[in-house]
Amino acid sequence: MIKPFQEAAPVLKKLIEAGYEAYFVGGSVRDYLLQRPISDVDIATSATPAEVKRVFHKTADVGIEHGTVLVFHNKKTYEITTFRSEAEYEDFRRPKEVSFIRSLKEDLQRRDFTMNAIAMTAEGKLIDPFEGQKSIKGKMIRTVGIAEERFGEDALRMMRAVRFVSQLSFVIDKGTFDALKKNGKLLLKIAVERKSAEFEKLLKGRNRQNALALLVDSEIYSFLPGLAGKEDDLNKLSEFACGDLTLNEMWALLLFCIKEEASSFLKEWKLPTRQIKEIQSLLFFFTKRLDREFDLMDLYTAGKEQIISAYRLFETVSGIRDQDAVNMLQEAYEALPIKNRSELRISGNLLMEWFQKPGGPWVKEMIEMAEWAVLKGHLKNNTEEIRGWLKKCNQS
Ligand code: ATP
Ligand code: MG
Repeated sequence: MIKPFQEAAPVLKKLIEAGYEAYFVGGSVRDYLLQRPISDVDIATSATPAEVKRVFHKTADVGIEHGTVLVFHNKKTYEITTFRSEAEYEDFRRPKEVSFIRSLKEDLQRRDFTMNAIAMTAEGKLIDPFEGQKSIKGKMIRTVGIAEERFGEDALRMMRAVRFVSQLSFVIDKGTFDALKKNGKLLLKIAVERKSAEFEKLLKGRNRQNALALLVDSEIYSFLPGLAGKEDDLNKLSEFACGDLTLNEMWALLLFCIKEEASSFLKEWKLPTRQIKEIQSLLFFFTKRLDREFDLMDLYTAGKEQIISAYRLFETVSGIRDQDAVNMLQEAYEALPIKNRSELRISGNLLMEWFQKPGGPWVKEMIEMAEWAVLKGHLKNNTEEIRGWLKKCNQS
């Protein structure tokens, strides 16, 4: 067995010794069978949350209302979730309430896709009542049970299907796809945060181009924030060779294609303000590069990472690939005499002292003058030289 499971095996054993059942489940078992790197090991057990807390010393209630307890073991944390069924769904969203059960099979049955409904014992034995391994071998995304019913219970599963296409390069089984095509509008009922999380995973996946095309084919794009009516733009996006772009670069490219105002569109997706700012700035420098080459000021204001990101977007859209250009940008950045204002060897206080004047807008103006001159190489970044230069400027 591979290391993450080996490390977690004592956690399962502890539950078993206390008289409960416990298994590895979900994405980690799937990824293990696919020989992909495993993110986090999820554990399912017949013990109720209260029972789990009695078995382990160090726990935290992370999602106790859904039956999940966080357990600390050997400096790692594990989410242990009680077997549950989700009998009653409200308004196409997550279940109104969960009921804890003692049967593994029922727990696996409430899971979304057959590939995600495989359990594994501490010894590595697989329990696979819904032929998940067969789906994995055939690279198939197929719901556990009747697709239409499962999407009716929780519409987010439709987005999950498409994001798994992006992550795993699987295809969606025909029955599952037909149900997806028919039920897209149910996504309108789903909280934006849940959709964003899946959409970002889609944007990051290796097979993102196909997944984006699938959003259009399945028509679910119409029910995602700000994307209704953007069929042609999304098709255009899916045609760009964008396989090695970062998440924020992908958002910027999407915005470039759909031609919407960045801030309001990204707010609709409820992205954090910091991320919105970063994407906006990226888009700004990228569109600038479509007009003309970058100058020193662009390098300086954007910073190395942003400017290279913006250039990568330019390459993606223009189809030009030029490693030399990237290297040159990097070198030009490294050669900048200063990388930000705090490196300038003067301060507002010094200026006030030199010119014997109280503070005011003139201080900022002078600093900017000196900054620009230093950046262009007209002036050395040295306190005395800057002082002389500013005195001279002030006289003329
Ligand atoms: P990732 O590798 O991205 O974490 P994952 O399959 O582990 O993928 P999670 O969102 O972490 O996805 O969910 C863990 C497991 O919980 C899934 O494998 C699946 O069995 C189940 N699951 C998650 N979301 C749903 C849902 N909306 N409906 C039914 N089962 C779900
Ligand atoms: Mg997971």
